[in-house]
Amino acid sequence: MIYTQPDLPYAANALAPVISADTINFHYGKHEKAYIDNLNNLLVGSPFENDDLEDIIRNADNGALLNNAAQAWNHIFYFFSFSPDGGGSPSGNLANAINRDFGSFDSFQQQFEKACISLFGSGWVWLAYDSTRHLHIIQEPNAGNPLRKFLTPLLTFDVWEHAYYLDYQNRRADAIHALWDIIDWPTIQSRF
Ligand code: MN
Repeated sequence: MIYTQPDLPYAANALAPVISADTINFHYGKHEKAYIDNLNNLLVGSPFENDDLEDIIRNADNGALLNNAAQAWNHIFYFFSFSPDGGGSPSGNLANAINRDFGSFDSFQQQFEKACISLFGSGWVWLAYDSTRHLHIIQEPNAGNPLRKFLTPLLTFDVWEHAYYLDYQNRRADAIHALWDIIDWPTIQSRF
């Protein structure tokens, strides 16, 4: 199977000033593309050649194939969580679950930001649900993905420096806090 990089559902400059066109052009245009190219190269002749991407992430041993498969999946999922018309707060059953499991949406945002700021080095912070549909905030270093823990991802923030350094330099907390303004909650809700 050959994976192609999906087009973004918005223009490169559409998320500014939260995420600049420069960052989109490097992060999506160079970093995400490289992970997908590496994945395609590593799949040739591998036992996972005909598996779908989520099965590769669940089943591959630690190593370059798993890292590139997870980074490809994580980035596609990340970039499809945003909209220039985003922001606000979730509604419906996702809002109810957030209130039940984190106390309130404000409290959830605070806990999620704290998880992003306290993750040492590169990685991802996730909102994911378990088999009982309870929600969890998960810190994953490097290319980690909650699919390997039998959790289903709803939302992720990329806290690798390449995600924010052009726009925010070392100010990870500011970069993370700004992302709430572009979260496409109807899309996140549809994943639940
Ligand atoms: Mn990234």
